[in-house]
Amino acid sequence: MSDFASVVEFIRSQFPRSDTVPLHAPSFGPEERHNLLECLDSTMVSTIGPFVDRFESEVARLSGRRYGIAVINGTVALQMALRAAGVKEGDEVLTQPLTFVATANAIVHSGAHPVFIDVERESLGLDPDSLQLYLERNSEVIQGRRVSKQTGRRIAACVPVHVFGHPCRIDRIAEICSAFAIPLVEDAAEALGSTYLGRPCGSFGSLAAFSFNGNKIVTAGGGGVVVTDDESCAKWLKHITTVAKIPHPWEYDHDEVGFNYRLPNINAALVVGQLSRFAEILVKKRHLAQNYLDFFTGLGMAGVREPDGARSNYWLNSLLTKNVGERDQMLKTMVDHGVMGRPAWRLMHKLPMYASSPRSSLTNAEWLEERLVALPSSTPLSN
Ligand SMILES: *Cc1c(COP(=O)(O)O)cnc(C)c1O
Repeated sequence: MSDFASVVEFIRSQFPRSDTVPLHAPSFGPEERHNLLECLDSTMVSTIGPFVDRFESEVARLSGRRYGIAVINGTVALQMALRAAGVKEGDEVLTQPLTFVATANAIVHSGAHPVFIDVERESLGLDPDSLQLYLERNSEVIQGRRVSKQTGRRIAACVPVHVFGHPCRIDRIAEICSAFAIPLVEDAAEALGSTYLGRPCGSFGSLAAFSFNGNKIVTAGGGGVVVTDDESCAKWLKHITTVAKIPHPWEYDHDEVGFNYRLPNINAALVVGQLSRFAEILVKKRHLAQNYLDFFTGLGMAGVREPDGARSNYWLNSLLTKNVGERDQMLKTMVDHGVMGRPAWRLMHKLPMYASSPRSSLTNAEWLEERLVALPSSTPLSN
């Protein structure tokens, strides 16, 4: 049997109850049913209700932060985190090209321009050395502001991504950002429950964003959370994402142009149910990942593992094929046999809207794009 065929057979053995094996499907239990019925019975399905508060404090707790602010999706969470970090119209924000398009889009939605810095092969995340080199060579301080030599724009934030739940070298990145006085905002959309050097992903930057989309490790149907330790920042975020309404028993008064980004209670109810099993989900994720990694080791293939010092939630398992052609052969064999796989995202600088964005050399990102295959990673409830 070819290696590709044995990978397919192995994946089928891990998901024996699925006809076609999806890349990532949620699974729901009695807690979700109970919470959703509670929403219906109380009529609290919309923008007011107790599940939103419970969701916010649970995500804050899991990410080691003081405050969580729930919003309608992860993209908006990132956009608002950038605004809270002080990003303004016309600024630049450093990020990585290997990410879901939402990262770059959120930068643009916050009024800024993305700049792409290379990733590391091991962690798939922003490479601290490339970041430092880029800043040393391509930026300078003018009148107290760190600006790009190339564009003259202020460099207002740095957004590394914890790809597939694997922590990037966020401690080094945080050191560099602080040395260059650049606010750090983590795109932790995929990394709820992951830790680096014993600290949760999402606890390193001044702010972080999580996503609770249907394909993430736990889902609200759709949703996002911004986390921070700064009380006034948290208050401003809550205010601006809820149409900037001044709390009052009957008056409708607003003090700035707010956003209607508030998460409905019914979405929070679903994810609060999911989070009640979060510890169990993490155990299952790591168990599946270990099975994959052991299997690949046996075949002499390179599974992507958590980097040194990191504990990954293994949201999405993946492997690196030896060359470009192999990647597509692998994907074709999987799809032909009803097993969903996908390559890494098309790199951001290859998308038409970001083709002219400033960037460092991106050789690692390109190397990974040519080789990476993401694998089915759902964690069904056991019965
Ligand atoms: C999912 C995701 C987002 C955006 O989240 P949505 O809830 O889909 O808007 C942002 N960044 C990364 C890396 C993601 O995977």
